[in-house]
Amino acid sequence: MLTKTKIYLSSPHMGGSEQHYVNNAFNTNWIAPLGPHVDGFENAIETYLDEDVYVAVLSSGTASIHLALQLLNVGQGDEVLCQSFTFSASANPIVYQGANPIFVDSESDTWNMSPELLEIAITDRIKKYKKPKAIIAVHLYGMPYKVKEINAIAKKYDIPVIEDSAEALGSTYFGQKCGSLADLGILSFNGNKIITTSGGGALITKNKDHKQKAVFLATQARDAAPHYEHTKIGYNYRMSNVLAGIGRGQMEVLDDRVHARRTNFEFYKNYLSKIQSIQFLEEPEGFYSNRWLTCIATNSFEQREQIRLALLKEDIESRPLWKPMHMQPVFKKAISYTNGFSEQLFNRGLCLPSGSNLTQDDLERVVQIISKA
Ligand SMILES: *Cc1c(COP(=O)(O)O)cnc(C)c1O
Repeated sequence: MLTKTKIYLSSPHMGGSEQHYVNNAFNTNWIAPLGPHVDGFENAIETYLDEDVYVAVLSSGTASIHLALQLLNVGQGDEVLCQSFTFSASANPIVYQGANPIFVDSESDTWNMSPELLEIAITDRIKKYKKPKAIIAVHLYGMPYKVKEINAIAKKYDIPVIEDSAEALGSTYFGQKCGSLADLGILSFNGNKIITTSGGGALITKNKDHKQKAVFLATQARDAAPHYEHTKIGYNYRMSNVLAGIGRGQMEVLDDRVHARRTNFEFYKNYLSKIQSIQFLEEPEGFYSNRWLTCIATNSFEQREQIRLALLKEDIESRPLWKPMHMQPVFKKAISYTNGFSEQLFNRGLCLPSGSNLTQDDLERVVQIISKA
């Protein structure tokens, strides 16, 4: 009998030339947080994003958000507005800076930050305390947030936006690439993301000085001197040349990866949207998602659990949608502006196996089990 293999939610998928770049790093002894692959990977991302941007590759997406907050001078006691429906890494760096996250709930068209609630939050914070220092908006699961609306509100109140594009490399908004749509953007190359360097991230800016300052901070804030001279607290956040080599190889297959994940989504939708109680998130006009993870919304918590457990029994990994930050014990004291939407999604939603390396057999197994459940 053929034993069935485990199906993962989203696993790494190498293209082929990664090893060539890594070998090159070994052969040339560039085993350091600098070198030709670091420059090459940054250039590849800059070219891909296709806008006038500067990219600094770093040790993680979380480190990239942390440095973005520093570039915006977010410090002790400041407030930063952050999408509540996200992974904790969007919000944690706010706390690293001694600042306070203020969480904003989502809207139903994209599942991302509600522009209406954002404006309510801004005016209320100004009335009660002081103007928030930054806005962190997230293209969750690859679906772009309402960029035009969020940017308009940000401009109206003169608050910079950090675009958390950790899950959205390859997504576009009216033809423009996600990551290049706000004052500062970030990417993640963690092992589960659409492309990976095992761990890594990038900061995207439109300002050359910003990039220089980010790289300076990411390499221990060393001033120009023959000895080690420091006037600022630095970090060890730069990406290594070895991992950047993996990144260069992954960039060569990014378009294929987006195509494969979008094909997964279409497959699931074709087979499962016949089931009345299962809904998919559609793309609004002009929005193009990389469909990093295919998510479904069911009718109830019980139905969601029934599906999740049926898959688990067959060694298939699925996962409830992100638990909103305003519901997390660690943020229970944080102020939030909510409408109940992300809480509902958390209770009824499920991420299905979505890797770009899933086979047709894998996908068929998944839909069969869900149909039966
Ligand atoms: C993965 C992720 C991050 C953090 O990236 P790391 O590289 O894992 O530090 C931040 N925000 C979101 C929305 C993510 O999914």
